[in-house]
Parts: sequence; C-alpha cells; structure tokens
Amino acid sequence: MPGSYPTLQPVPHSPPPPAVEARDLHFAYPDGTAVLRGVDFTIQQGESVAIIGPNGAGKSTLLLHLNGILRGTGDLRILGLPVETKNLREIRSRVGVVFQDPEDQLFLTSVAQDVAFGPANMGLEKDEVETRVKDALAAVGMGGFEDRAAHHLSFGQKKRVATATVLAMHPEVLVLDEPSSNLDPKARHQLVDIVRGLPVTKIVVTHDLPVAYELCERALILAQGRIVADGPIEAILLDTGLLAANDLELPHGFALPYSLERGAGSCSGMMTQRMT
Ligand code: ADP
Repeated sequence: MPGSYPTLQPVPHSPPPPAVEARDLHFAYPDGTAVLRGVDFTIQQGESVAIIGPNGAGKSTLLLHLNGILRGTGDLRILGLPVETKNLREIRSRVGVVFQDPEDQLFLTSVAQDVAFGPANMGLEKDEVETRVKDALAAVGMGGFEDRAAHHLSFGQKKRVATATVLAMHPEVLVLDEPSSNLDPKARHQLVDIVRGLPVTKIVVTHDLPVAYELCERALILAQGRIVADGPIEAILLDTGLLAANDLELPHGFALPYSLERGAGSCSGMMTQRMT
C-alpha cells in the first residue's frame, strides 16, 4: 500500500565524549592535606591544554587522577569512562602519562625493551610490538638507540625515550608532567618540536609558562585547589595581574611572539574566564 513504508529516521550522531571531564573533584592525602577542593573543567578531544599553577598547587596530584593512580571524590570521566576500578585498564591504555622523572619509566636493560614493555603487555603480536618500538623511537628522534641501556643516556635522551614508551601505546590522550624540567635549551627545543607535532589530545602540567605557550592553545590555572581561570593561552599569559595573583610570572624578557606565530591581532576578542 502506498505510503506504508516506514520512514527512515536519521541515525543520531552523538558527539565524541570529552577527553577529560572533572566535576567537583576533591582529594586529600591520608595525612589530611586537602589538595583538590572542587576542581571543575572539561577538555575536548584534540585540544592542547596547559594546567599551570604555582608549586604546591596540586598539579601533580591532579595529573595522578587522570589515570586513576590517585582517586578523589566527585565525578571524573576520561574519554567518557568514569575513573573507577573496572575501567582503569582501558583508561591506562588510552591515556599516556609521561612523568617528570624519566627514571620512573625506564627500568629494563635496553631502550628497545623499555619501549616494547607497554605494547607487549597489551598482548600485541611480536611484529606489531617491533613496529611500534621502531616508530615510537623514530618519532622522538631516538632511532638507532634500541640496544643502548637507558641509564647511559643523557637526561634529555632519557626523557625522549620515556616519551617513546608512552607513544608506543598509541595513546589518545598524552599527559606530560613538567616536560621541560632539567632539560638544557637544545633538549627542550627538541622535545617541544616532537610533542607539538603529535596528533593527539595533549595535557601539559607545568609551571614553565613559555613551554606551556609553545605546546598549548588553552590554559587552566590551578590554585588553592580549584581551577581559577580558563582561557586561550595568550589571554592568560598577557594578564599579568592574573598571573601575579597566582604566583606565576613570565621569565624576564620573554615576549609572546603571537604576532609572528598566530597572526597579528589574534589576541583580540579572547575571553579568559575567571572562576573567582
Ligand atoms: P604541584 O604539582 O602543583 O607542585 P603537588 O600536587 O605536588 O603540587 O602537591 C600539592 C600539595 O600536596 C602540596 O602541599 C604537597 O606538599 C602535598 N603533597 C604532595 N604529595 C603528598 C603526599 N604524598 N602526602 C601528603 N601531602 C602531599
């Protein structure tokens, strides 16, 4: 009978879940030190976001929540998955954390073994593991170092190999804790160039404002246990009052090269959201 065909309904397209969604996150260490006191923020997939704040603000504590090493109260979702025991394995395979100290990630007898450790643990075939080791080391400019012992490398090289151990897992979200600490200028430039070119969501936890600027488009300021400002990184870094109020300061002589890098006038109309 004409007109009796069911009408085809368009398949609803749900947007991808945010990379990170934190709502009213609270955390205190067992000794009672309350570090996170109601942290709220959302990072969408594909963003590059710096979490900046003075020493002791709780940046590392927050970072350790992103793969469930620390667990606070409130709602924390990573790629749509609530951070709870049953999801930790999946979350840790999709979120790669490069710790401040590369020694925390390098513990086997050769560079190749260190980089292979994660993919092998994921149960991947030997050939696939070898390909990932080769590609990850090439991505950080450490191809040819496969048989070297990590403890014989320079600090900058160790940092790059530690980054490769994470890249070999093909993470969707890359979290870097103080990526520039203890690096000389050349090693710092190399790491910035490598990280900038990676096509993943990036979260950079740092008190190094120039490196935050070089790697990220957006910044969140964490202070007194909360996110107190959220906006485009240029707007945050140009707000000297905001920086000073949160014990942050650009190094003397550092000028934002936004007119060169991002087009003259790109700061106009940018909004920083102050939460306090
Ligand atoms: P940031 O990374 O911003 O420098 P942290 O997250 O390392 O800050 O530290 C935040 C606060 O938590 C500081 O006051 C620090 O002394 C405290 N803290 C860090 N680790 C512990 C711990 N294991 N036990 C108790 N307090 C801690």
